[in-house]
Amino acid sequence: MNVLFATSEIAPWVKTGGLGDVAGALPAALRALGLDVRVLVPAYPAMLRNFPGAIEVARPHWLGGLLPTPTLRQAVAPDGTPLLLLDYPPYFNRPGNPYLGPEGRDWLDNHLRFGLLSRVAAWLGSEASTLDWQPDIVHCHDWQTGLAAAYLRYLPGQRTKSLFTVHNLAFKGLFDHASLFELGLPDAAWSMDGVEYYGYLSFLKAGLQHADAITTVSPAYAREIQTDAEGMGMADLLRHRAGQLSGILNGIDTAVWNPATDPHLVRGYNARQLPAKAANKAELRAQLGLEPCHDRPLLAVVSRLTEQKGLDLLLEIAPQLLELPAQLVVLGSGSHELEQGFVALAKKHKGQCAVRIGFDEALAHRIEAGADIFVMPSRFEPCGLNQLYSLRYGTPPVVRATGGLADTVIDAADESHGNGFVFGPATTGALLQALQRATTAWHNPPRWRRLQTQGMARDSSWAAAARQYADLYRRLSARIPSSARGHEDKSHLGIPSSARGHEDISHLGIPSSARGHEDI
Ligand code: ADP
Repeated sequence: MNVLFATSEIAPWVKTGGLGDVAGALPAALRALGLDVRVLVPAYPAMLRNFPGAIEVARPHWLGGLLPTPTLRQAVAPDGTPLLLLDYPPYFNRPGNPYLGPEGRDWLDNHLRFGLLSRVAAWLGSEASTLDWQPDIVHCHDWQTGLAAAYLRYLPGQRTKSLFTVHNLAFKGLFDHASLFELGLPDAAWSMDGVEYYGYLSFLKAGLQHADAITTVSPAYAREIQTDAEGMGMADLLRHRAGQLSGILNGIDTAVWNPATDPHLVRGYNARQLPAKAANKAELRAQLGLEPCHDRPLLAVVSRLTEQKGLDLLLEIAPQLLELPAQLVVLGSGSHELEQGFVALAKKHKGQCAVRIGFDEALAHRIEAGADIFVMPSRFEPCGLNQLYSLRYGTPPVVRATGGLADTVIDAADESHGNGFVFGPATTGALLQALQRATTAWHNPPRWRRLQTQGMARDSSWAAAARQYADLYRRLSARIPSSARGHEDKSHLGIPSSARGHEDISHLGIPSSARGHEDI
């Protein structure tokens, strides 16, 4: 089984969130099961720097529209996964974040940059490919590569199967109508059954509409996104595709996130050596300028600072939280308002609250090890990785019951399985109550140790997820070969959408501001 992973991020080299972590770890877990997985990722400066010996293996051309001819270079990651670096310097040799320019705004040509990534993924899965390796499945991730499923659908001739994984439904990859031509998509794609979404071209919808199967990163999120309340304007389409939609819970890289061997920690520990965690707490407090008060737990946040993560709720109750008493450390970046709010909080409560704005992998590890309680009050959370790191580091998480948080954290009320604290409504009252329960439990050492060890015993490795993806790939590739279906799919374009059951999309009545156009 050959699988092409098409991704816009890959840890540890280029990562802005969970997608990077998944692309950095899942391929190796799949390769351990005997699948030949290769990863297609743009040749950002960090990739070229880390793989200077990458050799040219193909030059995909005639890609259509205004898409240029890039170079594909092959390298091998330290874990043995072959990487296909999509090299086109005018698009990818840029500083900073993969998506944002220096001003913090989306690059204006993101449709072409990620259109090219999607198009080359489809090229690799088509007869046109000149590479001596052909995928059986093209596995796309999030809007950045959603268009690959559309290209595969509209390409003539034989094509491979596609799987689209939603890591976050909030980002729709919306661009104007003119991009259809620039991206070399046929006019027929501009329809409700194609890539059109409320007058925009949506990369996300392209993936949801055209992939042979869809997964999301937790079973709970797979159910939630089919509801109008949490479907972000895609619920109708997702309900229509419910038969091809499933949730596979993410794992974590248990080698990188291992408290026993973590090089960022002053002292390694495991579930039998929990007192050693205290050395990391003392060091973290010293590093952050927090007072060494022994009567209060240290609470922590490592996160993008956005409304999704519910951190506005935390900011609002932070003064009451500190009075419990408790200490707080926040590491993150994101919305200006939240950044400013947390910085002001730290200024006001010197010695009890520390805030670091920015992305700092080493500090994230030290926080997971040094904190007592981790806080994730997310409004929605497709899977969430930090609660899994927290469980593994003996730092019980306080989470809202949503998505992957609901699938992985068991409330302490269940004495024999509990590993954290779960609350329901996204309100300051419910959050504060859960934090109070957590700090009270922390004052009861035997109870606390039980919570910690139950969390640390959870197997969060990628092995289970890899087996589920491998099964899905097999089921997908065993279906009728697409060549046998010929262009039958295309003829559907002429059928009125009402006959295909998801005409409701246009009737959702959602105001455009709520439809997630913020990412154009
Ligand atoms: P999301 O992908 O929605 O941002 P996840 O919990 O799935 O959230 O993954 C976030 C990943 O990014 C985790 O690995 C987390 O440790 C990391 N992360 C987020 N913000 C920071 C930061 N400021 N510094 C270091 N790591 C961060």
